[in-house]
Amino acid sequence: MSENRVVQGRMVTAGKLAELIEGESVMEVDSIEEADEPCPDCGGNALKVVYMPSVTELVTGWKCQDCDWSETDRD
Ligand SMILES: [Zn+2]
Repeated sequence: MSENRVVQGRMVTAGKLAELIEGESVMEVDSIEEADEPCPDCGGNALKVVYMPSVTELVTGWKCQDCDWSETDRD
């Protein structure tokens, strides 16, 4: 079960959050978690989600709830 969150004024599922970070839809997604750190751009609350954009890749992504900032653990 994934819990919906409000991101930039829109209600998103974990799948939609991963899509916002990745820029395209992803294969598999875990539930949304709270990020350990606030957004480095605006200081707003950031969310974390682990997802699989493809069968061979596991990515941790972060997205601010208030602004356009997002980040992944890719190099
Ligand atoms: Zn922000």
